[in-house]
Amino acid sequence: MANTQIAGLAGDTRNVARESLDALAASLKGSLLHPNDEGFADVTLLWNGMIKKQPAIVVRARTVLDVVATVNFVRDNEVELSIRGGGHNIAGLALSDGGITLDMSGMREVRVDADARLVRVGPGCTLGDVDQATQRHGLATTLGFVSATGVAGLTLGGGFGYLSRRFGWTVDDLEEVEIVTADGQVRRASRSTNDDLFWALRGGGGNFGVVTEFVFRLHEVGPQITAGIIAWPASEADGVLDLFRRVTDSSPRELTTVLLRRNAPPAPWLPESAHGTPIIAIVVCHSGSLQQAQADLAPIKAYGQPLADMIQTKDYVAQQTMLDATQPKGMHYYWKSEFLPGLSDDLFATFNAQFAELKAPANQIVLFQVGGLLNERAEDDGAVGNRDAAFACVIQAMWAPDSPSGDANQDWVRTAWRALKRHGTGGNYVNFQTADEAEERTLESYRGNYERLAAIKARYDPLNLFQVNRNIRS
Ligand SMILES: Cc1cc2nc3c(=O)[nH]c(=O)nc-3n(C[C@H](O)[C@H](O)[C@H](O)COP(=O)(O)OP(=O)(O)OC[C@H]3O[C@@H](n4cnc5c(N)ncnc54)[C@H](O)[C@@H]3O)c2cc1C
Repeated sequence: MANTQIAGLAGDTRNVARESLDALAASLKGSLLHPNDEGFADVTLLWNGMIKKQPAIVVRARTVLDVVATVNFVRDNEVELSIRGGGHNIAGLALSDGGITLDMSGMREVRVDADARLVRVGPGCTLGDVDQATQRHGLATTLGFVSATGVAGLTLGGGFGYLSRRFGWTVDDLEEVEIVTADGQVRRASRSTNDDLFWALRGGGGNFGVVTEFVFRLHEVGPQITAGIIAWPASEADGVLDLFRRVTDSSPRELTTVLLRRNAPPAPWLPESAHGTPIIAIVVCHSGSLQQAQADLAPIKAYGQPLADMIQTKDYVAQQTMLDATQPKGMHYYWKSEFLPGLSDDLFATFNAQFAELKAPANQIVLFQVGGLLNERAEDDGAVGNRDAAFACVIQAMWAPDSPSGDANQDWVRTAWRALKRHGTGGNYVNFQTADEAEERTLESYRGNYERLAAIKARYDPLNLFQVNRNIRS
C-alpha cells in the first residue's frame, strides 16, 4: 500500500505507512479524512480567506480518546499537528500545511451548572454556543465581540469582550481545563492542580497540549441590557473623540465602549445618503441596571447630531451577535494591533491622519476600551499579562478574494500601525497577530511572562509537538 507524505516536525517530510493511518482511523470514534473525502473542504475553509494551507490529513475528533490517539500518533511519527477550534485565527493557525489538522468542532457540548455558577465548554464551541446556553439562566462569562469565534483559541490567548472591565480577561474566569499533553496523558489543570500548566494555559495559546474541556465561572448578566451603536458624520470626529475620552475616563465597569472610524456600510440602520461616506461611531454595552445605563449613556446619546442612534434595551445575546455580519467568512483580512495605556491628543491626531489615508471602503481603525478589573490583577496573574492595557487599537482591512486591492490594503494597515505603535504600552494581543509577524511580536505579547512560559513549555512539550501557534521557545 502507498505511503502518505506528511510534513514532519522538523520541517522535513515523513513517509507514513497507509496501514498506520488506517489503524489510527479505525481507533477513532470520529473520522480521519484525506483531501478528497467529504467534509475535508469544510474543515480547511477558514474565516480568513487569505490562508491557503492544505493539510495532508484531517482528524475529526469526537472524544478525548480520539485526541489521545492523535497526539500519540503525531508524536510517534514525528509529524506536524495543528488544532482547529473555531477556525477564526487570522494567521490561519488552525491548519497545518502538509501535516495533520485535528478538528475539534465535533466536541461542542455546553453544560451549565447554574447553582455552582459554572459552565463546562467543549473545545469545538463557538462564543455563540456558550452565550446562548448561559443566558437561558441569566448568566454569562467574558467572551468576545463576534459569535462565530471559537472559545478555545480566544480563551487560550487571553480573551476580552464587553464584560472584561467587570470580570477581566476571559482567562480570569477560567476555573479549570482538561488537556491532553504531548505524552498522551489526560490531565486536569486549575489553580490547585498542575498550577504551573494552568498558569501557562491562561494566555499561552495552543503551546501546551490539546484542551478537551474548559470550565468557566459565570456571573449574572442581562438577559436585558442597554447596548447598540451610535454614529456621526466624520465632520464631528474631533468632538466625538473628545467625548469618547471623557466617557472612558469616568465610565463604571458595567459600561464598555468601542470607537471606530470607517466609511459607512450600506446598512439599513444608516440613512442611505450616508452610505460610503466617512463616519465615526461608538459601540456601547452597558450590563448594569437599566436605570443606571440611562444615566451613564446620557452624554453619548445627547452628543451632536448623530446619523443614527441604535442604543436601546436589548438581549445580551443580540448584542453579542450585532457585529457578526461585518466579519463574513472567506473574505481576505489583514490586521495589526497594539495595546494603549490611554488616549492622548497626539494619539488622536495620528489616528485621524492615518484614517485619512484609508484605502478601501471596509477598512477601519478601532479602539476597544478594556481596563477596569483587568488592570487590577498582577502582571503575572496568568501568562496573558498586559494588565496595563486601557485600550486595544486594531487597524483592520477586509477585501474580496478577487479584488486587486490586497497589497494596498496591507500597506495601509502596516503604515497606520507603525504610526500608532509609538502610543502603545509595548504589548500587543497574541490573538490578533497575522501570519507575517516576527517572533519578537510574540515576545512583546508576553513581555515579563515569556521566560516562565518557555520553562513550562520545555517541561510539558520538550519535542515542540505543539508548534502551529505563536510558538513559545526556550
Ligand atoms: C471576527 C473576529 C473577531 C474577534 N473578536 C475577538 C474578541 O472580541 N476578543 C478576543 O479576545 N479575540 C477576538 N478575536 C481573536 C480570536 O480570539 C482569535 O482569532 C482566536 O485564535 C480564535 O479562536 P478559534 O478557536 O476560532 O481559532 P482557531 O483558528 O481554530 O485556532 C487558533 C489556535 O488556537 C489554538 N487552539 C484552538 N483550539 C485548541 C484546543 N482545543 N487546544 C489547544 N489549542 C487550541 C491552536 O493553537 C490554534 O492554532 C476575534 C477574531 C476574529 C476573526
